[in-house]
Amino acid sequence: MSAPIKPATAEAITEAADILRRGGLVAMPTETVYGLAADAANADAVARLYAAKGRPSFNPLIAHVTGPKMAKTVAEWPELGAKLAGTYWPGPLTLVLPKKPDAAIADIANAGLDSLALRAPAHPAARALLAEFGKPLVAPSANPSGSISPTTARHVADGLGDKVDLILDGGACPVGVESTVVAIDGDTAILLRPGGLDRVQIEPITGPLARPDADAPLASPGMLKSHYAPDARVRLNATEKRPGELLIGFGEIGGDLNLSETGDLAEAATRLFAALREIDSRHPDAIAVAPIPERGLGEAINDRLQRAAAPKD
Ligand code: AMP
Ligand code: MG
Repeated sequence: MSAPIKPATAEAITEAADILRRGGLVAMPTETVYGLAADAANADAVARLYAAKGRPSFNPLIAHVTGPKMAKTVAEWPELGAKLAGTYWPGPLTLVLPKKPDAAIADIANAGLDSLALRAPAHPAARALLAEFGKPLVAPSANPSGSISPTTARHVADGLGDKVDLILDGGACPVGVESTVVAIDGDTAILLRPGGLDRVQIEPITGPLARPDADAPLASPGMLKSHYAPDARVRLNATEKRPGELLIGFGEIGGDLNLSETGDLAEAATRLFAALREIDSRHPDAIAVAPIPERGLGEAINDRLQRAAAPKD
């Protein structure tokens, strides 16, 4: 049976918090994508979450918090992290910080690492749920692992409807791509994943972002090559359609569906996952995608597109 979809009213949020306290799974809107929330301290609930998504257990989860005060109960709070959070929380920025040894976070939530990823989401429904629950919630994207991320409640129901207890509907996600993940190592900030906050906004605070060292403990263990993948094959940097293809356009390259006719990268990010779903549902031989400039949010869009285009095995 598919989980109920309920508008994120105060009443529905109270119900959601009760479900979470009992170890259940609730899909919640955030400004980036819909998240599948579970009590970060409850190992059984987190195990159920990994199983529902089919997510490999070596891929650690982001713990969502109301803000720095809650974050400090579970992680160290170095000055550079505090500065970034002070500027960009709540918002689409995840910080990877040293986990406090006594943190009430189930080991499987962060794959047994001694670091923990933390984010304070800005969406009012996610904030209300966190405030009511009162403790960190892990919340990866609310979709089967490896498939296209959900940006509406309907997308969640289509992918995971029978595996969650409640879907809170807060409308379409305004940012549309996942958070930027930055690891803090002393005075150094390392970009683990480009996302909804672009580097131009981060680097005035951190200096140039370092690249992850593939062998370093802080390298993002869950950055799989194939991810966000539609059923159809994806061909990037296409300026025209080949036979059997449908084209996702950008700017002047019109396409069957355009991410942003004015070439606005924020608008393109907002529409990206819904566009991939829509075009994939028409079962083309392949999905062609117009070139997206690498500046601003283009870095996050291109990261998602490259993974969508990567061979699946
Ligand atoms: P997702 O929830 O699927 O959007 O992904 C969360 C991202 O954060 C993945 O790329 C994880 O590998 C990364 N991440 C979560 N926790 C950690 C951690 N402790 N250290 C490094 N990367 C992390
Ligand atoms: Mg995901």
